[in-house]
Amino acid sequence: MRFRTAAIHAGQYPADHQGAVMTPVYQTSTFAFQGVNQPGPFDYSRSGNPTRKALEQCLARLENGIAGFAFATGMAAEATVTMMFSAGDRIIVHSDLYGGTYRLFETVMRDKQVTATYIDLRDLDRVERALAEGARGVWIETPTNPLMNLVDLAAISALARAHGAVTICDNTFLSPYFQNPLDLGIDVALHSTTKYINGHSDVVGGGVVVKDPKLAERIGYLQNAMGTCAGPQDCFLVLRGVKTLAVRMEEHNRNALAIAQWLAGHAKVAAVLHPGLESHPQHALALRQMRGYGGTFSFRVSTDMAGMTRLLESVRVFTLAESLGGVESLIDHPATMTHASIPPDVRARMGITDDLIRLSVGIEDLEDLLDDLKQALDRV
Ligand SMILES: *Cc1c(COP(=O)(O)O)cnc(C)c1O
Repeated sequence: MRFRTAAIHAGQYPADHQGAVMTPVYQTSTFAFQGVNQPGPFDYSRSGNPTRKALEQCLARLENGIAGFAFATGMAAEATVTMMFSAGDRIIVHSDLYGGTYRLFETVMRDKQVTATYIDLRDLDRVERALAEGARGVWIETPTNPLMNLVDLAAISALARAHGAVTICDNTFLSPYFQNPLDLGIDVALHSTTKYINGHSDVVGGGVVVKDPKLAERIGYLQNAMGTCAGPQDCFLVLRGVKTLAVRMEEHNRNALAIAQWLAGHAKVAAVLHPGLESHPQHALALRQMRGYGGTFSFRVSTDMAGMTRLLESVRVFTLAESLGGVESLIDHPATMTHASIPPDVRARMGITDDLIRLSVGIEDLEDLLDDLKQALDRV
């Protein structure tokens, strides 16, 4: 099965469900035993549920892994994966990443003596030094959020493997349609299914896919022990959403690239951060490890905070909101919204300044999106 077919059929067997073409929502907490000491294929929904299993098998197939796990949220997936580490472990974390991941490491894991060392993972010598000093894991996001920097997944996974460190790649931004971290040697592919995989802004969810049986066993154990799994209704919705992932991603990609190219020529735009532009310093790496660029990117506007506020409040088709990956276009001001939980000095060092805007470009008509941005930029 190829990708589009797998997105619609993997893990879904009508014959197991009275012929139902859509996997039903098994809204039950518990399952009848067939006799004393004889559980059926499922016994309790935290440990396993047929709707969730269908989604987990589908995710595993799309990321080319052997096992998938569905979680209540992307952060539940992250929290569960970080529990693979023990007190005293050090993890290398990319210095530019999702604000919630930074918060998890800084305000939760640090207290448990799992410490994050923030490194620019584009600097492979620096990564190798940190690995040689005994780091147990590498936590990667590529492209990064919101600065759209890329990390060379094949290079990092080779270095990490040589030092016995586990690699985790948050693949939320590109989805398995445009990038498959496990194929590049990464150990754990992680998703906020809230974003492109579900794609309709009506669920929060997380996913993890691995290709090593030992890791699969460990994560399955933690998912059950910690109770971080997704409920059946949410799994049903994500399973429905993922069927159209390929067609949505093509449209997101096309609209976003066209808008990025248009913005790059706009007098009030100081910079466009989009890996599909030849001006992006890692455009060659993008061509090597990604099959597309997704629908999310950022740009800088030459104005002050007052001009920024006028721009952000005058969009009509774009909605001023956090999140990304839905069919509708969203506009985000990272410094005051998605990345506000990062201390201002750290934000400034990273380059997440007041002039930065992040767009999640939806699949509306391109002309309407361009008209909307044009009138909003006219007010700056
Ligand atoms: C949204 C997001 C998360 C967190 O996912 P939730 O579903 O909101 O918990 C993690 N990583 C990235 C890159 C995200 O965009």
